Amino acid sequence: MDKNQILKEFSSDPDKYYSVKLFQEQGFVRKSCSKCGRFFWTLDSNRTLCPDDGTDTYSFIGEPPTTKRFDYTQAWKQVEEFFVKNNHTSVSRYPVVCRWRDDLYFTIASIVDFQRIMGSKVVFEFPANPLVVPQTCLRFKDLENVGVTGRHFSSFCMIGQHSVPNNQGYWKDECVDLDYRLLTDQFGIKKEEVVFVEDVWAGGGSFGPSLEYFVRGLELGNAVFTEFQGELGQHTTLDQRVIDMGAGLERFAWITMGTPTAYDCCFGPINEKLFNKIGIDSDSEILRKYFTEIAKEIDNFDDLNQVRRLAIKNAGITDSQLTKMITPMEGMYLIADHLRTLIFAITDGALPSNVGGGYNLRMMLRRINATVSKLNLKLDIDDLIDTHIDYLKDTYPELNEKREDVKQILKIESARYEESKVHMKKKAEKIREKGTPTVDELITFYESDGITPEYLKEVDAISEVPSSFYSKLSDLHQSEKKKAITELPLEKLPETETLFYKDDPMEFEAKVIKVFDDQVVLDKTSFYARGGGQEPDHGSIAGFEVVDVDKHADIIVHKLKGGTPNEGDTVQCKVDATRRSNITKNHTSTHIINTSARSVLGSWVWQHSAFKDDDHARLDITHHSSLNDEQVKQIEDAANKMIKDNYPVKIEYFDRGTAEQQYGFRIYQGGVVPVKSVRIVSIEDKDIEACGGTHVKKTGDIELIKITKTKRIQDGVVRLEFVSGPNAFEYVKEQEEESKKKEQQAIEKQQLEKQREENKDKAREKIPVFIEKILAGESLDSEEINSKGKLCFTSSENYDDYFNQNFGKKLVAKDDTAAFCGIFEAGPTIRVMIFAGEKSGVNAGEIAKEIASILGGSGGGDAKFAQGWGKDTSKKS
Ligand SMILES: [Zn+2]
Ligand SMILES: [Zn+2]
Repeated sequence: MDKNQILKEFSSDPDKYYSVKLFQEQGFVRKSCSKCGRFFWTLDSNRTLCPDDGTDTYSFIGEPPTTKRFDYTQAWKQVEEFFVKNNHTSVSRYPVVCRWRDDLYFTIASIVDFQRIMGSKVVFEFPANPLVVPQTCLRFKDLENVGVTGRHFSSFCMIGQHSVPNNQGYWKDECVDLDYRLLTDQFGIKKEEVVFVEDVWAGGGSFGPSLEYFVRGLELGNAVFTEFQGELGQHTTLDQRVIDMGAGLERFAWITMGTPTAYDCCFGPINEKLFNKIGIDSDSEILRKYFTEIAKEIDNFDDLNQVRRLAIKNAGITDSQLTKMITPMEGMYLIADHLRTLIFAITDGALPSNVGGGYNLRMMLRRINATVSKLNLKLDIDDLIDTHIDYLKDTYPELNEKREDVKQILKIESARYEESKVHMKKKAEKIREKGTPTVDELITFYESDGITPEYLKEVDAISEVPSSFYSKLSDLHQSEKKKAITELPLEKLPETETLFYKDDPMEFEAKVIKVFDDQVVLDKTSFYARGGGQEPDHGSIAGFEVVDVDKHADIIVHKLKGGTPNEGDTVQCKVDATRRSNITKNHTSTHIINTSARSVLGSWVWQHSAFKDDDHARLDITHHSSLNDEQVKQIEDAANKMIKDNYPVKIEYFDRGTAEQQYGFRIYQGGVVPVKSVRIVSIEDKDIEACGGTHVKKTGDIELIKITKTKRIQDGVVRLEFVSGPNAFEYVKEQEEESKKKEQQAIEKQQLEKQREENKDKAREKIPVFIEKILAGESLDSEEINSKGKLCFTSSENYDDYFNQNFGKKLVAKDDTAAFCGIFEAGPTIRVMIFAGEKSGVNAGEIAKEIASILGGSGGGDAKFAQGWGKDTSKKS
């Protein structure tokens, strides 16, 4: 929808869309900006320009329009106090990781907290009406502006004021009145300073007028009145109109403090810590001038570098001031900002990685690392994390609980970056030699080697990051989410009654209401359909084998083998109870292992995905590294402890909003739940999840869990394969048999070794005696060594390779007219060894070849020594 078109339409009828009671009562006048033509409302009858074009832009820097000063946390206290005093419920912030929406990784606005997707429609669910929320929002679009412009953040607190007009909530008049009084009464801003600008908002099929409010050119908030749907001209009023007022808490603090940048009053004591490191006084006149210039020019140019150059010129910054002050300050602000965002994201369970939303987090930490090394700083990141959290914990107590987790994750991630640098450097050199890579090639570098285009730019392997890189990358990941939808002839069929959520009989009678191909739809069924990673039930319907069960919207479709009953038949159905029982045990085990892994590894562990079949199951969790044996054992022990403690597994239905408020967003382990009534599966307070699967009644029913294998399957995801119940006992039995077999093999090997040693001892004793006898012309027949003069031969199994080798060698060494041929078995082959004295008249090599060929093998050597082998043991004698 064309926003300008809507604005034109609305501004042509201001009484209907924009004029509120406050404007009448206070005597606001409506004006059109003499520069851009936009309409605004002001008490200052001399004002001719809108706030964007005004001459007072950013004049609050160094000279705030309030008598009171409030920093970031104090400003929230003021806002909260004001709205609570005016009958609003103050709601805790929602996670920055947007678990309740499939289409967003991060929470980008306060209104997102209350939006739930039902099919293709957005519905609103407010836990109170009216309410106010200090919602931390993450936005990565303007990352290059952070630290530079004085007002861009990668995360910020959106003061969300929301109301649904009914007997509790209010509409435009009261909203604007409240916002005006917040500025004037609570913050002490002079009435004439406040300017409201007419605007519109449109998105997701709905739209409405909005009033942005400014003080000295700084937009503090925007009150959106979402009230229409459809196309302009044919639009209708929404059943549920909503007030979506979003204001920047950082800006509220900034306008009362009048510091050179918004960063100076929003990061708490961390700035001072950082500035002490580089020896800068953040309160200097030069900085005030410079950032005021930046603020004035920022909206005039697309290119940030151009804005920067102009501000440097206008503020009269010297080269040395630039390198000694401005550049380090920008770096400090970047570090403070990015670190704060990482603290929120990791606290809420996100991990830096190269997939999905984790990508932005990794990128930010790498920007911190790059800045630290560029400015040659020695920073104690743990100390900076502490400083941030200590400052924020009054408003956001949850940050305090995850303090150590955040430190651990950042440490691991930074170490990983250092490790990968050598590899990345080599790769970057190759890329530089080859010339500018295409966007597709850049994506490959990133996905296979973790090399970001920012890094390549940093090391001059590419001159700039192509603008299509991020959009292409996100498209790529988006398309993975889409699944193929198959069309089935199911229109107008009634919803299947799901017996597995009721009495769950393993044998039941049902009516066949539709048959197509080999698929059957019943009026009711106890066959669990594939869903939530749980494999379907098997069994029989009317004697035909059920091989698959799937759910299509509310209709369950059974796939049969060998034939189908007729439509209208009443049929006997039987679920394979053993299979179901095994799957059920595996499903509850998934919940148990998930919570066990979290307790052993850390709060960042979430279910990534899961699969439960009857004889095996797996759970993929979010975790930064591969698991070691000790960790696996701890998880398995914790899981079996839960089984031993025999907790009841409770299933209850809750209204979605109630479930979220009561249990938090941890319930969405298996992803978003697109229904209003949520099925909550809880194992005491150990594990509480929204889940549609089948579960045991008590954890003790599972009897045993064994983790069979773990593997890091992708960046940030570890797979645990496991078995439970009878399969676990079977696995233990197999393991025991396996280890017994290994033990037996070890014993046998030991015995063999002992035998060899004994033979060696015997050989050492016998060889000199035998040689003496041969040389003396005595017969060794009794020892199974045949001799013709000094030419000896043996194929006795009493003699091994040690004997043959040493006997032959020593014999010919003693007498060069002697020769020896020994044939013996060695494992599956037969070996022959021939030693011939120089004057024995025997050619060892030739004989070895001959014998080997008889044995069906090969041999070789020289006239004095040769050997061969063969496989045909029958030819040995
Ligand atoms: Zn204007
Ligand atoms: Zn589940």
